Amino acid sequence: MHFDSYKKEVEVALAAVLEAASLCQKVQATVSPKMMEKKDRSPVTVADFGSQALVCRAINEAFPDDPVIGEEDSHELRKPEKADLLAKVVSHVRVEREGATTENILHWIDIGGASKYAKRLWTLDPIDGTKGFLRKEQYAIALGLIENGKVVVAALCCPNLSTGSDSSETGVVFCAVRGEGTQSMNLGGTSASSVAVSTISSTAKARFCESVESGHSSHGDAAAVAEALGIQEDSVRLDSQAKYAIVARGDAEIYMRLPTRPGYVEKIWDHAAGMLVIEEAGGKVTDIHGNHLDFTHGIGLAKNNGVIATNGLVHSDVLAALSKTGVTERVV
Ligand code: AMP
Ligand code: MG
Repeated sequence: MHFDSYKKEVEVALAAVLEAASLCQKVQATVSPKMMEKKDRSPVTVADFGSQALVCRAINEAFPDDPVIGEEDSHELRKPEKADLLAKVVSHVRVEREGATTENILHWIDIGGASKYAKRLWTLDPIDGTKGFLRKEQYAIALGLIENGKVVVAALCCPNLSTGSDSSETGVVFCAVRGEGTQSMNLGGTSASSVAVSTISSTAKARFCESVESGHSSHGDAAAVAEALGIQEDSVRLDSQAKYAIVARGDAEIYMRLPTRPGYVEKIWDHAAGMLVIEEAGGKVTDIHGNHLDFTHGIGLAKNNGVIATNGLVHSDVLAALSKTGVTERVV
């Protein structure tokens, strides 16, 4: 991948998410059908902490002054009754980082404990789409750099996403730099190419995606909006910011994330990386009212409701349909 600005940030972010992906893939391989049946969440917990440790270590080594707003902290892991869990995290992190001590790892996790807005900060979801991870479906490691409230660098790694809609190879990482476009490559780093949204402008021909979890995004409201838009095809449901990725590369035109209840505040780590990946691929991202996502409020997108991401061409039609179906009025 080649970018002219933020070269060091891109290099560090890319290496960090790839190292974390390597850990996540090994942990995911340990998920058995029995665990899935029992809804045993322990593998995703191990991978969550391990991924955050690896990514935060990398950022902190390269940019020691930069705060990181990450999803996890080590509070739980430090409890005596969590010793087994901690031992698993340590052993997985050591596969990627030989010689790491338990104290090192707890410290790395806590580097991601920032919560306040700063002029320059990173935000990390070490495993976005935990349910997808456990189902061995889609999940992502999502890292974004925010400067003066604007996302300027994104690294979004989707270990279970195909490298292209007609490819059987899985594992793709997307990188975007503000003003310089979006690129993607496989996890081996052998096939970088630029990424662009689709050119479909008729909503009747549009494809839309949404969360698998109806608790994260209202499926009923999305179906009503899709009908108002004349969309023919059923939604594609997938976990994590892989939804941003498929709109960015033109495999869908619309990603709708519609509030399930008033008062839920979206987290910045669930959107920063994905938003830039779409915008730099030529698309558009706003909330359901058409407002830009505002990353200046710490952990939450406190001034926004839901998220609408599109190829840009159908964006105003989607906003109009949200208004027509009354979705925007229900959530203020
Ligand atoms: P997804 O994989 O797109 O369904 O989104 C996963 C993310 O949803 C998690 O990282 C959570 O931060 C977030 N989440 C949890 N509860 C809600 C909710 N009520 N509405 C929207 N997002 C949520
Ligand atoms: Mg998440």
